[in-house]
Amino acid sequence: MHRRETHVVIGAGVAGCLSAITRSRAGYQVVVLERERARSAGTYPVCTQTSNIVSENHSGAEYPFDPQSARDCLDGRIENERFFPELIYGGKTYSRIIASRSMMDDGHDIVGQCRANMRVIQGHYADRCAQDPADAVFGDPADICREIPTVPGVRDVAAAFLTPQRGMNPVLVSAVLDWELRSGGVDFREGATVTSVTPLADGRYEVAYRAADGTPETVVADQVSLCAATAAFGMAKRLNPSITFPKLFLALREILYVDLPDGTDKNFTCLKLEDSYGGMLSPLNEGCAMIYHPPAAHIMNVVMDPESCDFPEEYTRYLAEGHPEKEKRAAWTLDRLREFYPELRRSTILGTYLKVAINTVSDSRVRRNMGVFPVRSGCTMSVLPKWTMCAVNARKEVTLALEHSVASGRLDADEARELAGHAMRRCLDPLPDWARDPGSTTARAAAHAVNMNVPQVLAQRFAPGHTAATPTRGTV
Ligand SMILES: Cc1cc2nc3c(=O)[nH]c(=O)nc-3n(C[C@H](O)[C@H](O)[C@H](O)COP(=O)(O)OP(=O)(O)OC[C@H]3O[C@@H](n4cnc5c(N)ncnc54)[C@H](O)[C@@H]3O)c2cc1C
Repeated sequence: MHRRETHVVIGAGVAGCLSAITRSRAGYQVVVLERERARSAGTYPVCTQTSNIVSENHSGAEYPFDPQSARDCLDGRIENERFFPELIYGGKTYSRIIASRSMMDDGHDIVGQCRANMRVIQGHYADRCAQDPADAVFGDPADICREIPTVPGVRDVAAAFLTPQRGMNPVLVSAVLDWELRSGGVDFREGATVTSVTPLADGRYEVAYRAADGTPETVVADQVSLCAATAAFGMAKRLNPSITFPKLFLALREILYVDLPDGTDKNFTCLKLEDSYGGMLSPLNEGCAMIYHPPAAHIMNVVMDPESCDFPEEYTRYLAEGHPEKEKRAAWTLDRLREFYPELRRSTILGTYLKVAINTVSDSRVRRNMGVFPVRSGCTMSVLPKWTMCAVNARKEVTLALEHSVASGRLDADEARELAGHAMRRCLDPLPDWARDPGSTTARAAAHAVNMNVPQVLAQRFAPGHTAATPTRGTV
């Protein structure tokens, strides 16, 4: 690169972290501005907001009602398989998708729907492998999805499926991202709330922010990446008033962490479909699980104002003060899921979280992928309706950034192609000493659990060989 460009990334959820990591690997000087502050010494406050409750690296198996969502998720899953190390799974194996017996009894053919979706996943994976054998990251296409007779220890099962979907542990994800940001020499400014982004006459941007001590600061950037979740829409609109977004639905959701005083025989996520019949049990280790029951979790859904792109006022209040039905809905979730998952019999609630899910449709069973928005020359926006699309989006974003450098005459096209490949290489390669040592890994993850305001017990990983109930097949 003729002159080292400075790039500012706004927001350090998973979208912002991947933007910063890939841009730094591509040779840019990267500054991350993140509003939150770390509560653990020696850590960056990464994934402290929506990204702190993510548990599934989707493969499309959970979306049997929309083939395009299934294909998008599988694309995301393939890219994630290359980008993230095994460590993020914390000993969890592949998720089980479960069709409910009671739903079949009520006349809804959820089993047929799931089987059809497995064929969509299988067909799409076969196409990807045919186009590029390097995409065969889950082995033989014939083996990628499998119907299994049942899932022991789950009630109300009409059919069960083993797929490439896999549950991960969000505190381990943060430990990995923190390491990569430091390894890439990213200038991480915490407690930095961005207040404006202004284009300059020379094509650069002035990013103004309020620093942790309240003082106004600015940084001038050659390129900017807007990764501030819902706040990013307004930033983009102010930079380019003619930009259009799809109709955006902001769904207020509730999700819980519970303890498992009797342990669990499952080292995988159980995803029981669908709505009132359904619910997720996602054990993070033998002592703690995340649970979700759609009718209790889906509190409300509002459309974002397409002009102001403002966050609805009541959401700001609910997120800050809680929702009046928060406890009632949490108890409802636990009560209902006890009917399916016996290990919840004596569980108590460790934490209840209200979050906003972004979607382009009102139906949570159809979760579209929004991609990366080119906002204006040298400025992109990446907002993730789904974590699963994070590496796909990061690849697109770093490619756009490199193309901009080529167009500005700072980089030649061959160099850009090489840097794009380098930017997407796997994390923790080579494996650092701390990642080889279970005690050090747990300590890092526990420090992030404090930042992320989630129970510290999350930092524990499943003991190796935790369960004998894991079916084996191919590479999956
Ligand atoms: C209940 C629930 C469960 C989910 N489960 C899954 C799942 O299992 N799998 C899946 O694929 N997806 C899941 N999702 C979706 C997933 O959570 C999101 O797609 C993803 O976490 C969004 O990441 P992000 O980086 O875009 O946003 P965030 O993680 O919210 O990060 C945005 C960051 O920007 C910062 N910020 C905001 N404004 C400013 C500002 N002005 N200045 C500086 N910084 C700012 C914030 O502090 C924050 O750190 C779930 C969503 C919900 C609501």
